[in-house]
Amino acid sequence: MATRDEIVARERRKLMEERSRVTGAIDRLRDALKVEVDVDSEEGDPDLIEREKNVALLTQLEHKLEGVQTALRSIEKGKYGKCERCGKDIDPERLEVRPDATLCISCQSEVEKLIRRGITPRNEEERQ
Ligand SMILES: [Zn+2]
Repeated sequence: MATRDEIVARERRKLMEERSRVTGAIDRLRDALKVEVDVDSEEGDPDLIEREKNVALLTQLEHKLEGVQTALRSIEKGKYGKCERCGKDIDPERLEVRPDATLCISCQSEVEKLIRRGITPRNEEERQ
């Protein structure tokens, strides 16, 4: 079983690799999108379809990059592996399985219960 520090270090490395991969893909897509598409193109033009696909993919990648950067920031701040809700350390065994977990097991089940009752956890936080 990996220690908490090992898991954090491994996750950080993975996130940095992910970040450079996603950044590279975004750059390539942006370059591809710079190419002008003929405005007279007919509906169903392969170039246009390709372009629309690229725009959708770019949006997806930008979201992904945001997520990666948020995770990296939380590692830098030493918050990685701590529960967002109660601030306790998340069980390393849980992190091993779910490296992106932001809640400890008990908060996770609490939150799931709230969601089942139709209350979003965010509202819960705002009320406090
Ligand atoms: Zn918790």
